[in-house]
Amino acid sequence: MGVTNVTAEVVAREYRSLRDKLTGFCGCETCKGDVLVYALNRLSPHYVSTRQGEILTELSLATDQEKAKLDVALLDGFRKVGLAPRCGAKPLQL
Ligand SMILES: [Zn+2]
Repeated sequence: MGVTNVTAEVVAREYRSLRDKLTGFCGCETCKGDVLVYALNRLSPHYVSTRQGEILTELSLATDQEKAKLDVALLDGFRKVGLAPRCGAKPLQL
């Protein structure tokens, strides 16, 4: 049995969909990591046990409220990282 943090999986998925909408955001590995860390440090982890090799098809959070919190944390991260990208990209007001 392995352990998967569903919050981290959903954050990674939402990151990709939000980044596509936020044109101009750098999105390099450094900026991506900074946004994910920012968001995950503000959210509660939600663990599930997984069998080896199992593919998680049902990656969803329990409530709409949790989803809303997750999106807020991610957008805050995008704004903060966009204003001062550590990679040296041009600062961006989102
Ligand atoms: Zn960058």
